[in-house]
Amino acid sequence: MENVSNVLTDTQRRIKAKIERARMMAYTRETAAPELATPPDGIQCNRCGNTGWIYQISDDGYESVTACPDCYERRQVVRRLKQSGISPQDYARFTLDTFDAYKTPDSAKMKTLAVRYLKEHVTDGPGFGIFGSSGMGKTHLCIAVCQELTRRYHEPHYYFSYRAEMPMLVKSAKSFQDDYEASMHKWKTCQNLYIDDVFKLSDTGNGKLDAQELRVFFDLINARYLNHKTTLFSSEYTVNEMARIDGALGSRVYEMIKPYGLSVNGPNQRLIG
Ligand SMILES: [Zn+2]
Repeated sequence: MENVSNVLTDTQRRIKAKIERARMMAYTRETAAPELATPPDGIQCNRCGNTGWIYQISDDGYESVTACPDCYERRQVVRRLKQSGISPQDYARFTLDTFDAYKTPDSAKMKTLAVRYLKEHVTDGPGFGIFGSSGMGKTHLCIAVCQELTRRYHEPHYYFSYRAEMPMLVKSAKSFQDDYEASMHKWKTCQNLYIDDVFKLSDTGNGKLDAQELRVFFDLINARYLNHKTTLFSSEYTVNEMARIDGALGSRVYEMIKPYGLSVNGPNQRLIG
């Protein structure tokens, strides 16, 4: 009981702060010059005064705050990228043209697979995955594929940084917070989702992963599989290694990307091998 009332109080406090902030911004917007300073995320929006929130007060004095329909989602995208350590500028630079296909023999295979995938892409069809050594540009290539899905097929795509998002989801799952289902719903149902660096920093040192983390991750990808949503993956773990950690999870990932999955070796390993 105590937990529940704490959560409610926290939520109420957050909403109150949001209302206060939006009220301040509404006031500033009305009184200050229309040219507002460039906001930190670079997104200008006159509708909400660059806050991402719309403050309203109804005739009967009821105060409410809603996400700005013009810019809230765009702000979220920039925020998520920032948390994952990728700047929006880098994101835009990660294209097929800028991918170095001559770095190693596997780099060429990566690019060939990406080009083939984009040519054969079917809406709600199979995803795409690159697994193995770091330093091969897996993230670069997968982001390039995502951007092409949007450019060529006019399909939205979402970037999910495993290391930035997963700890928050696991935390809210563990504390039974009501925002868990809401956040999961978005990731479970969006059309194209790229999950970057699966299991990054998850290994507790003995080759075992947190059971709750595995449950949350399986919950996410299994729902996407059942909803026929397209998922792209990159990871330093190969699909076989994932299957050794959790058989059901490994085979699910395999089902979701076949025949567009590739395991790659970095240049160093190749020289040693
Ligand atoms: Zn706005």
